[in-house]
Amino acid sequence: MTLQRFQGIVLKLGNQMFVRHYHWLNYPNDPQLLGIQFPSGAARSAGRRHKRERSCECGKCVKCKHREYMKNTRVPVADGMGRIVDELKALGFEWNAGLKTWTIERNDA
Ligand SMILES: [Zn+2]
Repeated sequence: MTLQRFQGIVLKLGNQMFVRHYHWLNYPNDPQLLGIQFPSGAARSAGRRHKRERSCECGKCVKCKHREYMKNTRVPVADGMGRIVDELKALGFEWNAGLKTWTIERNDA
């Protein structure tokens, strides 16, 4: 990923939401690791590979009702996050769980 392309992506995302970006996450090591970070953990949960297994699916108990409630009242900031995450993955970004950041190596090719 060239720095120029990276900045284009940051700019595009920045028009849609608040994002932090980093030019050298692993400073002073090479190759430079570029990073994009979203607030609220929206991208993190969208990037999670496996969903937690549900302990119950009855739809009637407190646990199920709470899950349904959370689903229906979720802040819509998560909407479209899945698509953005897919785009980042397609571009070669990887989720770094330790840094809570989407990262990609810089190259100038
Ligand atoms: Zn249940």
